[in-house]
Amino acid sequence: MAKELRCGELMPGCDAVLEGKDESEVMTKAAEHAKAAHGLQQITPELAGKVRSAIREKGTSQSA
Ligand SMILES: [Zn+2]
Repeated sequence: MAKELRCGELMPGCDAVLEGKDESEVMTKAAEHAKAAHGLQQITPELAGKVRSAIREKGTSQSA
């Protein structure tokens, strides 16, 4: 099941949406995006946990 991460849940104001075929692919893309867009040189275990908890099934709408 495809997954997605809305970066704005972690980085307010960022409208990037990262998609992958599974959680690990999203995590990889999130790490690249965090480095490129937010200047984070590494993903700390704490941040990785936040990223993981923000990953959703792709296509599930939770906004109103
Ligand atoms: Zn971002």
